[in-house]
Amino acid sequence: MPNNHELKVMVVEDSKVTMKALCNYLERMGIRHPLTAVTGQAAIDLFRKDRPDIVLLDALLPDIDGFDIAKQLRAMEKGNEWTAILFLTSMAKDEDLARGIEAGGDDYLMKPISEVVLKAKIGAMRRLVEMQRSLVDVTLKLNVANKKLQRMTTIDGLTGIGNRRSFDDFAVREWRRCTRMKKPMSIIMVDVDHFKQYNDTYGHQAGDMCLKAVATQVARSAPRAGDLSARYGGEEFVLILGETDVDGATWVANHIRQLVTDKKIPHSASPFEHVTVSCGVASVTPRDDLSLGTLLKAADNALYMAKSQGRNTVIAGDYWQLT
Ligand code: GH3
Ligand code: MG
Ligand code: MG
Ligand code: MG
Repeated sequence: MPNNHELKVMVVEDSKVTMKALCNYLERMGIRHPLTAVTGQAAIDLFRKDRPDIVLLDALLPDIDGFDIAKQLRAMEKGNEWTAILFLTSMAKDEDLARGIEAGGDDYLMKPISEVVLKAKIGAMRRLVEMQRSLVDVTLKLNVANKKLQRMTTIDGLTGIGNRRSFDDFAVREWRRCTRMKKPMSIIMVDVDHFKQYNDTYGHQAGDMCLKAVATQVARSAPRAGDLSARYGGEEFVLILGETDVDGATWVANHIRQLVTDKKIPHSASPFEHVTVSCGVASVTPRDDLSLGTLLKAADNALYMAKSQGRNTVIAGDYWQLT
């Protein structure tokens, strides 16, 4: 929203004389052609259509009570919108003023309206309207910055998939969800085989490209809402599979292993001659007396076994062995 756009004023007043005087005063302040309404309903319709910045609102109108109009105008404001509402009143009682403010008014002008006071109050409201506009502007920029920050804190910079932190958050949530649903939850640990040698042979930059390629295959394999794939650290990846038992998770792990093999990324220092991964799988139906940490440990142990059994393989571990 541009900061210096012209101030849009709406005058709601059923007295022709007062309306004429107000329009003259406004014109002398440089506010030409204010929106005008002589009934409450016309004011509401005009407000909806033209969204004024400032409303001068007669408290006594033939159809709808001015206070009710103020409430309805406020109800039409969305999100960050704000309109300055000034009551025009001949009532001098403090309770009436309080009622006006309560109904959503920001200030009031005593009838007969003094041109000097009107000018001063319009000036004050103009400043508020401008402040509100820059506040909205800053809020929008902040939102964009926050989204970017949120992305930066949850996405791994190299591979573009979730990072360790997103894994930690998601794992806890999924653990709780599966506890409630009484459904199994699985974890797959994926580790690139002989990756140190890959780096040593092809260089660190090629190593980075290789990790990106593996990450893509890992991410492809976990597309459901209860799934998450993340870089666990270094050349290790992790998957959470909600509502998935050990057979399902073992199938997914083998699928990942196959997808990576099929990429046929040359690795001359590996006995497989191509880049391969080993996977450790573990599953359990979460309960309050069980722990996510143990499930992770079980997957980690299974991965260790896959490594010791020659790599490029999938092993399913047993949660209960660790209890
Ligand atoms: P194993 O088959 O037992 O898993 O052996 P490995 O060589 O893959 O495992 P090791 O833990 O000995 O080495 C992992 C290597 O991964 C060492 C480290 O330099 C490399 N690495 C970790 N993070 C990155 C990265 O972001 N980029 C690159 N290029 N290499 C990385
Ligand atoms: Mg009136
Ligand atoms: Mg490795
Ligand atoms: Mg490793």
